[in-house]
Amino acid sequence: MVRIPFHKPFETGHELEYIQDALSRGQLSGDGSYTRRVETLIGEKFGARHVFLTTSATHALEMAALLLDLGPGDEVIMPSFTFPSTANAVMLRGAIPVFAEIDPATMNLDPGAVESKITGRTRAIIPVHYAGIGCAMDRIAGLAAHYRLVIIEDAAQAVNASYRGRFLGTWGRMGCYSFHGTKNFSCGEGGALLLNDDDPELLSRAEQLIQKGTNRHQFLKGEVDKYTWVSLGSSYTPSELLMAVLYAQLLAADEITERRRRIHEAYAAGLRPLAEAGRIGITAIPDHCRSNYHLFYIILEDRRYRDAVKRQLEERGIGTASHYVPLHSSPMGRRLGYAPGDLPLTEGLSERLLRLPIWTGMSSSEVEYVIEQLKTVLRQHIGVNHGGFGIGHRSGL
Ligand SMILES: *Cc1c(COP(=O)(O)O)cnc(C)c1O
Repeated sequence: MVRIPFHKPFETGHELEYIQDALSRGQLSGDGSYTRRVETLIGEKFGARHVFLTTSATHALEMAALLLDLGPGDEVIMPSFTFPSTANAVMLRGAIPVFAEIDPATMNLDPGAVESKITGRTRAIIPVHYAGIGCAMDRIAGLAAHYRLVIIEDAAQAVNASYRGRFLGTWGRMGCYSFHGTKNFSCGEGGALLLNDDDPELLSRAEQLIQKGTNRHQFLKGEVDKYTWVSLGSSYTPSELLMAVLYAQLLAADEITERRRRIHEAYAAGLRPLAEAGRIGITAIPDHCRSNYHLFYIILEDRRYRDAVKRQLEERGIGTASHYVPLHSSPMGRRLGYAPGDLPLTEGLSERLLRLPIWTGMSSSEVEYVIEQLKTVLRQHIGVNHGGFGIGHRSGL
């Protein structure tokens, strides 16, 4: 039987060569030659002012929350439709995540909903660029300027994607990237904090924070002759071995994105007739967004139907996935005082969403196989059940 996994890591072919080179340089810890190369590449390619490589986007988000000096009573607005790391970063500082509704057209934070959640205690907004498609950053930046709030972008899924010509991760004061094994450019576990601000005090705090609270950064730059403990800090530095792998991946970033674009467009072309007939919703990329084609999802009629389609695709050898359990309706969200029904758009969409396989090495015949099988499964459903839903995912519920 044909087996198409939901995800499969991609190798550019240069990873082993760079790992070998890193090994031969005799430094496996962080802050070596590959770390510098990756920092430079990210800074130059995406236009980030300062880049701090980390072991995950989770750690980059935690660094951002520390740098912002979030504390008890502070509120941070974010979507409920995200990965728990977005909220954990805030809660680890004792601050409160405030969940806002999403725009059904993109599954991204709705700026109007954000504005309605702003209070005197709001400190920051964390837009999450779902699927590698940018949030409405012009409007969110406008709100942040008007209410004097800081933007921390959760751009974990959005490396090499842009909004109105500017790379995601560089719109906010800080941006967080992920290089986790499931992301487009990967070293297994990795991330980056982008600091888009030249405030020297913020910069030196970030340098100390990532160096276990020492001034080792100054030492590495030759500014002091030994280093010592100067502030609070932790260890977020990735090994040179990881950065060797990441360097290979990021050098091929545009080629990887181009391959994913072709897969994404094949899905969109193959499924558009079903979307136009109102039978399913499909991933839509607004005109002013350039995606990195991280995900391709469809929206089905309801949870039961979504689960049935998922099962039937699995029987045909096709791996799919759903997510997220909205954070506000999770056990932790309940403890924060939320109840099901608080964010009906988020809840309705998350239980109807199904992600199709999309990975860099996927062949066009594999994509066609998924499209054909999905069409067959949907046709059968129409046969046994009723004829068409007239929903389209833009209608939300
Ligand atoms: C993957 C992801 C994260 C976490 O990334 P890690 O590098 O695994 O810590 C955070 N937020 C979003 C939206 C993600 O997709």
